[in-house]
Amino acid sequence: MFLKSIRFRFIAWYAAILSVTFLLFSMILYYNFSGNLYARLDDLLETKAEGIFNSIDTYWETQKLEAMKSGADENVFSRINNINFAKIAERFVNEKLHDPELISMVVQILDSNGKIIVSSTNVVSIPDVSPEKLKYIVKEDGLFENFAVKLASAKSLQFRLLNAPVIENDKVAYVVQVASPLNSINTALRRLRFLLFLLLPITVLVTSIVAGEFLASVTLRPINDIIKTARQITAENMKLRITAPNSKDEIRHLADTFNNMLDKIERSFATQRHFMQDISHELRTPLTILKGELEVALKRDRSQDEYSSILRSNLEEINNINRIVENLLMLLRFDAGEATLKKEPVDIAVLLEGVVNDLRAMAVQKGLTVDFSYNGSEKVILEVDKEKLRRAFLNIIDNAIKYTPQKGNISVMLDNEKDYAKIVFKDTGMGIAKEDLPFIFDRFYRTDKSRSDSSFGLGLSIVKSIVESHRGFIEAESLTGEGTAFTMRLPISRD
Ligand code: ADP
Repeated sequence: MFLKSIRFRFIAWYAAILSVTFLLFSMILYYNFSGNLYARLDDLLETKAEGIFNSIDTYWETQKLEAMKSGADENVFSRINNINFAKIAERFVNEKLHDPELISMVVQILDSNGKIIVSSTNVVSIPDVSPEKLKYIVKEDGLFENFAVKLASAKSLQFRLLNAPVIENDKVAYVVQVASPLNSINTALRRLRFLLFLLLPITVLVTSIVAGEFLASVTLRPINDIIKTARQITAENMKLRITAPNSKDEIRHLADTFNNMLDKIERSFATQRHFMQDISHELRTPLTILKGELEVALKRDRSQDEYSSILRSNLEEINNINRIVENLLMLLRFDAGEATLKKEPVDIAVLLEGVVNDLRAMAVQKGLTVDFSYNGSEKVILEVDKEKLRRAFLNIIDNAIKYTPQKGNISVMLDNEKDYAKIVFKDTGMGIAKEDLPFIFDRFYRTDKSRSDSSFGLGLSIVKSIVESHRGFIEAESLTGEGTAFTMRLPISRD
């Protein structure tokens, strides 16, 4: 569990990133430091070598001048394999043996063949220079190298060596070798290595655990709060909310999103509960009537006519129950997104006129006039589910007939707007009170005055679902005592 936790991943990532950074930093530091130490030592060796051949050359020049004064030929004074030069070099090195500046150094002079003329020590032996190596030294105009010397104590001592050639008439006259022990540099580097490589794991371990643990607890605490709250929330306990941290970070965002989701769920729960209450209530009325009628009927023997009348009444109630259930099923299918539309091209004017004609007899019976008008020149053909749309038109016109008193008029007008087919259903009926208007599309909503056996308050919510499933809109305007107008807009698909 711990290995899979965010806390562990935090620490692990922290440790990984820190290790890489630290390793890079240590490597750069180490190579820079050792490079610097070597460069300084190399500078020193170069200065010393320069000092040595300057001094030897000064000696040599003095000797040469004196000899020339006593008549010697200048051309005899080549330093290459010259016995006099070898003596001068030997004398110089022996004189310098106790010079404090060179005390920790090995100085060696080689002749033009790489053979030792003089060496400042007989303890430390610098590796011999082969003719190939001599060529290389000349080609490179000097060569730095490291060599190790085995001491009597079986320890080995490392040296840094500079081979510096001196050229005369494009030929090697002699080579100055200056070597210095590397022990101080090596000790410094060893210490640095120890510090870095000991410190690295300890620092990474301690920092990652402390910082990772700290970061994890700071960032995860609000998440733990969310988990704790979420665990306490049940269907009965929907009021609970997460206390969002007083920041503007992702956790705050998460808490807000979670709370918003809870709001939505709570609202949806309340709607569902309402809906269930409404359904039970609506079904209870016809069932109570049904039960009452049957109980009364069973109290004594009835005549054939009486039984027929009771059964007819029973059937009417069962039809009511059936209608409610049918309508509810249709609405639930729309809700669940399961209502499939069987779309086909439909001439809306023809469909509307058909519905108007079907209901005209009912309207006329109530002393109402119904008319349909469309003044456009082009046919309004929409891709719609014909049966569902017919149901929507029927519900609206049926309501208009229901809620319009005698001598009233109902007009249905079709209009062709740019992107929509607009249909207005207008009546001169009792109208809808201002306070009821926002709710008439809600399920089971009906105004008190309109309560009747055949009115369940589902008609308009079904209309709304049908229209919206066709990506259309519907709105209502009304004035009590004057009439109501429903405006429906259905999109015209251009493809
Ligand atoms: P019902 O089955 O009650 O007609 P609806 O959902 O169709 O249910 O309508 C909801 C309520 O809207 C009705 O109860 C009624 O009060 C009101 N209503 C609908 N259409 C009209 C109308 N044309 N004129 C007046 N009131 C209407």
